[in-house]
Amino acid sequence: MSVQYGGIEAGGTKFVCALGTGPSDLQMAQFPTTTPGDTIGQAIDFFKRRSSRDRLAAVGIGTFGPVDPHPGSARFGYITTTPKPGWAQTDFAGVVQRALGVPVAFDTDVNAAAFGEQRWGSAQGIDHFIYLTIGTGIGGGALVGGELVHGLVHPEMGHIRIPHDWKADPYAGACPYHGDCFEGLAAGPALQGRWGQRGETLPADHPAWDLEAYYLALGVANFVCTLSPKRIVMGGGVMRQPRLLSLVREQVLQLLNNYVRAPEILERIEEYIVAPGLGPQAGVLGALALAERAAEQKRATHPW
Ligand code: ZN
Repeated sequence: MSVQYGGIEAGGTKFVCALGTGPSDLQMAQFPTTTPGDTIGQAIDFFKRRSSRDRLAAVGIGTFGPVDPHPGSARFGYITTTPKPGWAQTDFAGVVQRALGVPVAFDTDVNAAAFGEQRWGSAQGIDHFIYLTIGTGIGGGALVGGELVHGLVHPEMGHIRIPHDWKADPYAGACPYHGDCFEGLAAGPALQGRWGQRGETLPADHPAWDLEAYYLALGVANFVCTLSPKRIVMGGGVMRQPRLLSLVREQVLQLLNNYVRAPEILERIEEYIVAPGLGPQAGVLGALALAERAAEQKRATHPW
């Protein structure tokens, strides 16, 4: 019987579970995020019903947070200080591990998505890149030298500060912690707060998109200068506006002003700043890829 992996993409409004070995053979389920007991329990039931102890080799979790992703830490596998009611200090990976008896990999939703894009999507073969999602919030995952970056906690790329011209854009920003940080100015709620309508209803020629592209390009230019990524993958609901990616590329070129002298940027920016190859499945497939890696690591240390 062939091996299977499990993936859980845990979002603030829904959980997506997948079972299989990759994009071509997925069994999937999704359900709303309610209480930790109910929702994590439904995910466990899904794997128990659809697989077995002999076949399921590992489970990967990519989750909303903040989280503790550091193996060896007392709170490894926990969702920590989230404002989401009922979910603060939730042991997530431990509960899944004890119920299913397999290795469990655990990371942020954006780190998982980045890992998925490297395994099957737009960053295959690239060991140093970033993945950004622009939706109800902004998150970023980074792979550096083939490893997902965690550091002190994990990166919070959505909360960097970017220039905000209050005269040109008097909108105060939507971040509950910082007001006009990157996420506060450029995530979906900012589009709605600034223009009075949701991003998907704003026409393609609305001035909202030039300003949006400018803010996104400011964030991207900062990440180019700090992490020197070899590719930038940009997904999330806001990026579904078809013009936005090319507007961002133009603005990034203007902001960098020929300073970062790489042909990948100066000559081939359409291959440098790209859409996710896995679309909305990047998160759950990334969780599956984390499971695959956890199973390989276990085989490497316990080959019998
Ligand atoms: Zn913020």
